[in-house]
Amino acid sequence: MQGKIVKGIAGFYYIHVAESGIYECKAKGIFRKEKKKPLVGDDVIIEVLDEENRVGNLVEILPRRNELIRPAVANVDQAMVIFAAQEPKPNFSLLDRFLISMEKQGIPTKICINKKDLVTGEELELLISEYKKCGYEVFTTSAEQEEGVEQMSALLKGKTTVVAGPSGVGKSSLTNLVQHGVEMETGAISQKLGRGKHTTRHSQLIQIDEGTYIMDTPGFSSLYVADMEKEELKDYFIEFAPYEGACRFQGCSHTHEPGCAVKEALDKGELSRIRYANYVEFYEELKDKRRY
Ligand code: GDP
Ligand code: ZN
Repeated sequence: MQGKIVKGIAGFYYIHVAESGIYECKAKGIFRKEKKKPLVGDDVIIEVLDEENRVGNLVEILPRRNELIRPAVANVDQAMVIFAAQEPKPNFSLLDRFLISMEKQGIPTKICINKKDLVTGEELELLISEYKKCGYEVFTTSAEQEEGVEQMSALLKGKTTVVAGPSGVGKSSLTNLVQHGVEMETGAISQKLGRGKHTTRHSQLIQIDEGTYIMDTPGFSSLYVADMEKEELKDYFIEFAPYEGACRFQGCSHTHEPGCAVKEALDKGELSRIRYANYVEFYEELKDKRRY
């Protein structure tokens, strides 16, 4: 039987099988020999040992489309980062850290600004344009007023999406809204997954509907720019790319060099000041190998 790993805890894997629900499985020894660790998001083959109690063995991992390190998850189509327009105020440093992490891992990311009911249209436009002009898709929602939820559902449809955002921005509220109306074996799943206990340490996939999953990522606030050389960082600020060829020095870091086209664009207002300031901050961080 084929299914998808939605959660893994202490050697047990919870596998969602379409139309049948969740099975609790142990991985057979073959994975240890192959040194292939099952990941949340893996499509797998299971052998059912006890249908009544939904217990089985995980016997095969099907080929992965991709594999993220942070968070550890396989077969991801996209990421969605959720921020609030207000309460809490957007933390652009955190947002950029997340975007860099996803760019490095090659995952396209969409930005959702929630709680749009708390700011004026003008304030909201400013927030949207800051990241839109960098090339990101930005959309706005209000979980409170149930606005933008259909657009969000449409973006998620048929995909596996890593969802991240600081606490308090409305992730749970939005998740509940997109899940609304979706019939699921909620009771059985909650029981098997121990939901409601708030096991925030473990990432898990939540099924929205057939073929649509979201992955809530815990520990977002501790994201740091890691595992890269400072020279690599500029590659993940996607809006720099059109200017880089015009910098006087090849391999320009866009920090102190004369004749830097990125800095010129910044002076002309073509690039985001917030983003550039974060770039410099992260660059220094990598230079010092300081870790947050
Ligand atoms: P999470 O920590 O990201 O999961 O955030 P929650 O979904 O728990 O929401 C945090 C708080 O913000 C709750 O009190 C929600 O009622 C409130 N909230 C969520 N979405 C909105 C919104 O769009 N507008 C307003 N005004 N409040 C919201
Ligand atoms: Zn430059």
